[in-house]
Amino acid sequence: MDLIFETEVVTLAVVSDDARFPVRRVYCVGRNYVEHIREMKEGDERDPPFFFQKPRDAVVTDDAVVPYPPMTDDFQFEGELVVAIGKPARNVSVQQAADVIFGYAAGVDLTRRDRQSEAFKEGKPWEIGKSFDASAACSAITPVARSGHLLEGAITLSVNGQQRQQVDLEQMIWDPFEIVSKLSAQYTLMPGDIIMTGTPAGVGAVVPGDQITVNIQGLAPFSISIGPAKESD
Ligand code: MN
Repeated sequence: MDLIFETEVVTLAVVSDDARFPVRRVYCVGRNYVEHIREMKEGDERDPPFFFQKPRDAVVTDDAVVPYPPMTDDFQFEGELVVAIGKPARNVSVQQAADVIFGYAAGVDLTRRDRQSEAFKEGKPWEIGKSFDASAACSAITPVARSGHLLEGAITLSVNGQQRQQVDLEQMIWDPFEIVSKLSAQYTLMPGDIIMTGTPAGVGAVVPGDQITVNIQGLAPFSISIGPAKESD
């Protein structure tokens, strides 16, 4: 098939595999740790999970330098466990969900917090705060066969070596199986979909020159750094 122009295929490395994981969609969970809901002073701690998306081409991976984005003075990190989907899933139960998960990764849901907060207050969509260029940082994927399912274990995020977020994955309000089950009721999940499962408390701002590292027990450490704004911005 001839194409009138080339378009980028977005992929993630797979630990111990030469083949790469082609990304189809990037889903995110809005609120999934009680302490983060409290720090944001929004929402009800018993609400069901809600989801939003980032564009596939917003994915950046290991050692990326993320340009400081335009239209924000409050560019924040959210360190998150990422679930990678390996099989089609439509209306799967919590029990069936384990079987469709290909693997796990570490991610950073990069956020223009000032724009997100405005949108929230005004009842507008979150895209401007959440779904901009280079906003979905994600590590190589570790297959479940190597890591097992990550329902517990420490997740930490550090900026320039200083720890800023730390929690155990077992404190997620909705665990990966429940997230996959709920999301599959809204959308047909397909191989290549990834799900950022929500941030613990301790979110904060970064500036050009900062290095962000996410460590999740059972996965390799994942780092990105923040670069200067693009000159055109
Ligand atoms: Mn998030």
